[in-house]
Amino acid sequence: MKIAMIGTGYVGLVSGVCFSDFGHDVVCVDKDAAKIDKLNRGEVPIYEPGLDTLMARNVDAGRLTFTQDLAKAVSGADAVFIAVGTPTRRGDGHADLRFVMAAAEEIAQVADHYIVVVTKSTVPVGTNRQVKEAVARANPQLDFDVASNPEFLREGAAIDDFMKPDRVVVGVEGDRAAQVMADIYRPLYLRDFPIITTDLESAEMIKYAANAFLATKITFINEIAALCERTGADVKQVSKGMGLDGRIGNKFLHAGPGYGGSCFPKDTRALARIGQEHAVPMQITETVITVNDEVKRRMVDKVRDLCDGSFNGKTIAVLGVTFKPNTDDMRDAPSLTLVPAMVGGGARVRVTDPQGRREGDALLPGVEWIEDAYEAAEGADVLVLLTEWNEFRALNLKRMAEAAPGLRMADLRNIYSAEDARDAGFDAYVAVGRAGFG
Ligand code: NAD
Repeated sequence: MKIAMIGTGYVGLVSGVCFSDFGHDVVCVDKDAAKIDKLNRGEVPIYEPGLDTLMARNVDAGRLTFTQDLAKAVSGADAVFIAVGTPTRRGDGHADLRFVMAAAEEIAQVADHYIVVVTKSTVPVGTNRQVKEAVARANPQLDFDVASNPEFLREGAAIDDFMKPDRVVVGVEGDRAAQVMADIYRPLYLRDFPIITTDLESAEMIKYAANAFLATKITFINEIAALCERTGADVKQVSKGMGLDGRIGNKFLHAGPGYGGSCFPKDTRALARIGQEHAVPMQITETVITVNDEVKRRMVDKVRDLCDGSFNGKTIAVLGVTFKPNTDDMRDAPSLTLVPAMVGGGARVRVTDPQGRREGDALLPGVEWIEDAYEAAEGADVLVLLTEWNEFRALNLKRMAEAAPGLRMADLRNIYSAEDARDAGFDAYVAVGRAGFG
């Protein structure tokens, strides 16, 4: 199959690379000249483990190319995927569809043979029908179908998620488009990965419902964590005991500083907005959004308390600022709430993150960037463990406590324990939903 992929961000690039690895001919298009230049030099513009090797392999095999020229990419393509951003529209929480609709019109203007226009971006229910109308309006002669193919990959594990998905969701209207989509996903179908073929609206809804559900699960355990702190229960024990129930499951059941990232915040907001537009309020999702904001605020209070009630004049070392490990993505990361509160409160903030600096430089003004966790902790009053990168999971706490007499720790990912911190010589330790000391 011949595929054009519009957008070379976290989803478009991973999807394009993986489709080429399936054996398809893939041309990836982006408007961003700097990104295309980088890709043509063999450089990956984002951090995603394993992507560089897989990309190089498929470029070398001649199946994967990058261009700014949409017409060239669409020429001869069986399917054109739209994988552009759908950020929150300013003011009302709705998904901003400007980029999707622009891409649809641009495709229509250059296409001259039957194609399937596939929306991979996360879009509100009804968008694929709007895409269909926009393409037909821009090119009334064009023979085409639309398909909804929401993406479920997780940044940091994107290749594995794409190659070994829990399921693939395809929303289509006719057999012809269904056949094209089946041919594209044939390598997964042959390996028995579930492929759900459904209507356009259901496919669009599945994506939002799944993300809102996961955000709810995280927020639920975060709320339980707050209650654990008051009652003496240990949220790690509670989530273990809950998660072993097969009906509940242990994933997305870890208490922490609140969900963030490029999907959950914007997708919960968009679902709430869709509900309002259809006069079916998404009350659970709306509450999740409010509670998650409170969770993030509570983390600021927690660290401030550890600073004796004021950030002013304190030196704080922050370990990890990306929204989760193994990505350089900072979109809606909890650090964007916490760190500015510390800096604004008069703290000196020393930040270390294996991949966060490229984006973080502009997003976190006033911080010092430090190479590693030990150096960041030197002379600090408080150590905040914010993103659980592997290299922060087995720190030599004793070495840290020795380098910073009186050091206290806010372990917002529950990696360590009060006992670990006390034994290492820390002066105080707080976690999320479990006992601390000091
Ligand atoms: P991104 O912002 O990283 O990438 C979007 C890319 O599209 C950018 O490089 C931009 O330059 C390009 N672009 C925009 N308009 C264009 C056009 N008309 N022609 C060519 N290129 C254009 O976004 P992302 O994180 O990859 O997300 C894309 C979509 O996938 C969103 O709807 C998102 O909700 C969804 N999604 C994201 C993830 C994730 O983990 N990031 C997971 C599942 C689904």
